[in-house]
Amino acid sequence: MTDAAASVALAPKPSIDELLDACEVSSMDGRHREGAEQAEEVLLRPGVTPTEQAYARHLLSLHRLRLGEHEASVKEGLLALEFLTGSGDLVRQSKLHCILALAFTETHLNETALRHAVSALDAARACDSPTLEFWALSRAGMVHEALGDPQYGLELGRQALALARTLDDPEARFAGLNNLGDACLTVARAQLAQGQSASLALQEALALVEESVQMAHEQAHSFWEMIARTNLVSILIELERYVEAREQAGLVKGLAQAQSSRYMELSNDAQLAEIVRAEGNLDEAVTMMEAQLADPDAEQNPALIIELHKSLFEMHKASGRFEQALAHHEQMDVRMLDMTIQTAGLQSQMLINTIEIEHAHHEAERSRIEAQMERIRAEELDHEAHTDPLTRLPNRRALDRELPPLMGDERAKPLCAAMIDLDHFKRVNDEYGHATGDQVLTAMSNLLRAVTRDTDLAVRVGGEEFLLIFAHTSLEQAELVCERLLASVRTYPWETIAPGLTCTVSAGVSQLKPFEVVSEWLARSDAALYEAKRAGRDRVSLAPA
Ligand code: GH3
Ligand code: MG
Ligand code: MG
Repeated sequence: MTDAAASVALAPKPSIDELLDACEVSSMDGRHREGAEQAEEVLLRPGVTPTEQAYARHLLSLHRLRLGEHEASVKEGLLALEFLTGSGDLVRQSKLHCILALAFTETHLNETALRHAVSALDAARACDSPTLEFWALSRAGMVHEALGDPQYGLELGRQALALARTLDDPEARFAGLNNLGDACLTVARAQLAQGQSASLALQEALALVEESVQMAHEQAHSFWEMIARTNLVSILIELERYVEAREQAGLVKGLAQAQSSRYMELSNDAQLAEIVRAEGNLDEAVTMMEAQLADPDAEQNPALIIELHKSLFEMHKASGRFEQALAHHEQMDVRMLDMTIQTAGLQSQMLINTIEIEHAHHEAERSRIEAQMERIRAEELDHEAHTDPLTRLPNRRALDRELPPLMGDERAKPLCAAMIDLDHFKRVNDEYGHATGDQVLTAMSNLLRAVTRDTDLAVRVGGEEFLLIFAHTSLEQAELVCERLLASVRTYPWETIAPGLTCTVSAGVSQLKPFEVVSEWLARSDAALYEAKRAGRDRVSLAPA
């Protein structure tokens, strides 16, 4: 292994945070292939949190869109959005809706795009971010233009630019100028096509794009300059200012070559040919365009190919070369059909993705609710298993579970246990019947609840036997409580249950000794209870300390 290879092998793996930062930088630098790989890596990392996942999917959605992978862009974007909507992160929500608006409008799903643009705007306003509001407004303008309402698109574009001018954000101002310039050009072309004057729209477009050229130049941003000058060429052609158009196109060519952007070079060639055609040199324009079509790189830009076929069809037809004109028309048809089929396929796939994501969302929701119901059911079962059905007091099983932690808790000390037993209960059953006996037990349980606090325990340990555990209570205090209980049993209006019925209870109380085990402790309460019975019942007896 060479030194270089060794250092590569030993280089520490970037953390998830570092990867996400790098992914963000890739997006600002336009390195989308790399950015997509970085985001994918984050998603594959073990232990990635849902927030990090959403962040990675957000960036991935943007990278995929810039790479022209609309379907993947939408899929990742919707998944990220689902999480962000839950987390309430309005900033990211707005940014994501902007990405989705663009992805959908580029696939001609303009209604859906509009919904996202509106949501982007709502989220931007809700989090009071003028920068995000700017991007959402521009996107909304673009979508309205695509929906066939260029005038309203223009209006939104003007609002966006006005907002951008208040921000110290060159990227926003540049985008605002160019988007609005482009919208003006679209309106102008529509006016020209209808035989109307377009000079107002063209003047506005010119002023905007000239400002953006100057701005890009000042910022020394050659990519922006290339975009802005390309737009300037289109406007100058419509204004029939061919000398200046040619001059600008020459500048774009230099910039495209310097950045080795083959894509921009090709569209620049097409613009040059358009100038030649506009100047009336049809034969030369035909030769140029035929050459461009023969270039295998032209396949990078299907929309440009269609434009070239259209221009060639028109020029051949104007020159009376109908056979060639027809050939280009046919080519144009084939290409347009291809694009339509591709777009339709993409649209349906994107729709399926949306439905799948919604379905997954419902599934997740359902299993969440089911798990919750399962938990509640288990809690209910557990509660039943630890509750006496007649009196609804905790039973012996509950005592076995709750007593050990209480005994281990120093803050609960001193702890006292009072064993309570109904006196001559057999007689109650014998004289009044078992049902009356049950009513007595239920009434007793209410009297027991009344003397215990939240920190105490009242348990039905057997037939007519109850155990009271008093937390942070001394033997003397426990005795007092039991005396109160005995008095309340004695004076209870038992005759409301059965005429002539009376009841008393006996109690044996002991205080937990240090290091004593449960059985020893409760046996002492039992012994004290036995002592109370022996001494005549309806009394409290204390176990010796
Ligand atoms: P002592 O004062 O000595 O405690 O006399 P006693 O009659 O209460 O004691 P004994 O243990 O002889 O009888 C307890 C009676 O409690 C026997 C049983 O029929 C009755 N018993 C136990 N569980 C229930 C119950 O759930 N419902 C009813 N109605 N009676 C019960
Ligand atoms: Mg008994
Ligand atoms: Mg009894």
